[in-house]
Amino acid sequence: MSTAGQTRTREDWARAAAQPVPAQGHFIGGRSVPSRSGQTMPCINPANGQLIAQVARGQAEDVDAAVASAKAAWRDGRWRLQSPRQRTAVLQRWADLIEQHAHELALLETLDMGKPISDVLNIDLPEVLRTVRYFAECIDKLDGAVTHTAPEAMHLITHEPLGVVGAITPWNYPMLMAIWKLAPCLAAGNCVVLKPAEQAPLTCVRLAQLFVDAGGPEGVFNLVNGVGAEAGQALALHPDVAKVTFTGSTAVGKLLMAYAGQSNLKRVALETGGKSPQIFMPDLYDLDAAVDRAVGGIYDNAGQVCNAGSRLLVHRSMHDTFVERFVARTQQTYRPGDPLDPATTLGPLASRGHQAAVLKRIAQAQAEGARCAMGGGSTLGEEATFVAPTLIVGATQSMAIVQEEVFGPVATVQAFDTEAQALQMANDSIYGLAASVWTSDLKTAHRMVGALEAGVVWVNCFGDGDMTQPFGGYKQSGNSRDKHIDSLLSYMQSKSAWFNLV
Ligand code: ADP
Repeated sequence: MSTAGQTRTREDWARAAAQPVPAQGHFIGGRSVPSRSGQTMPCINPANGQLIAQVARGQAEDVDAAVASAKAAWRDGRWRLQSPRQRTAVLQRWADLIEQHAHELALLETLDMGKPISDVLNIDLPEVLRTVRYFAECIDKLDGAVTHTAPEAMHLITHEPLGVVGAITPWNYPMLMAIWKLAPCLAAGNCVVLKPAEQAPLTCVRLAQLFVDAGGPEGVFNLVNGVGAEAGQALALHPDVAKVTFTGSTAVGKLLMAYAGQSNLKRVALETGGKSPQIFMPDLYDLDAAVDRAVGGIYDNAGQVCNAGSRLLVHRSMHDTFVERFVARTQQTYRPGDPLDPATTLGPLASRGHQAAVLKRIAQAQAEGARCAMGGGSTLGEEATFVAPTLIVGATQSMAIVQEEVFGPVATVQAFDTEAQALQMANDSIYGLAASVWTSDLKTAHRMVGALEAGVVWVNCFGDGDMTQPFGGYKQSGNSRDKHIDSLLSYMQSKSAWFNLV
């Protein structure tokens, strides 16, 4: 990706941010349309509380129009019947356009969600591009099968797209989480209706337009803005939607499964958060290096990460040293500030309501007897929604701060004495998205990887990986995997064709 954005100063970005953002509609049938009711909702910049733009607030009737548009595109085959190479070319051009609009998208993402602009340019956008390009290239790498039969029969197994897919996505990585769904879904030949998070929908609206600009047929990628209980629910209940793919809270994931049961038994693919443990064994080879990585595992993106390594399990022999170095390293690394300043490494939380929820969880932990070794409150003034990086010591396993997802810059540190105890604490959770183990012993690492109840386990790192890494959880962290070519298959169904050759 172009690195020109990295040379822009805070003033450059502030000048660009001063340009008004026009009101945003839904995107249905290849064009922007208002809500049928005319309703809108405000999009607020969490860094200063100011209005960025009004956005259409969709209801069931808007979802009906978007699904009808997707269904018409599905039926006439304007996308699924293109050759794999034609679809690859469209997706490649889409990636090229996203890259060409990187500055515009980065600015919108930062204004809308509060994420530091350097993070959008260095982390989110490159990963968005990798994802689109990877799935674009996967399309013609999938094979079906011809099975062994008697000579008078032939049996083919082929993969076909599902039809109309609904995607419901969160606000923590608005573009990236949408792209993790859209890229394999579109590559597979489906038509889609996206309902982005109401807190940060602006970049997703641009992605829809850029898909059409790249040569994507109208009606293949539709988008309805709105709140979860209205547009989201209507999409998940819709009888013409073959699958709902979701990243968000466990509570809403459970609702989506119920909606599927109440409507048409649509497939429901869920990635629903976590409470990931990071285990530091006494034989780890370099405590400073481990601490450096562990800090990023919880405080990057202000902790608003589903796989955030929020539970630090540290061998008792190193507990105090660990806490001391962890605090020092965090204070060196995270510089809260204006997210438009390229030097800022900690942005505000995505909304006022979310800030209040995170602060309440910290206060509750303190009321239950834990204490803050670092942070514990808001920072940088009233008009923004910052929470200082917080490290909680003295928490016990049954406390809410250990059991429940906070989705903010808050970690607990707990001491353990034995490997068995560490594993017991790590697995004592309704979640199972990710985990990490820090040890210099390969046998220990291998044994612990096997024992950890998590869909992703990192050894001597946290958050590493590439597009070949399936990402998704065990237990109540969900039932699906993003990334990897298997994700493409999850947007398809197999057809068995048995030919009688007699
Ligand atoms: P968070 O609490 O982090 O905002 P949510 O799970 O509430 O996470 O939101 C993730 C996505 O799910 C958003 O796009 C939101 O609008 C949507 N959503 C919320 N409630 C519902 C619902 N009842 N039905 C369908 N989608 C919903």
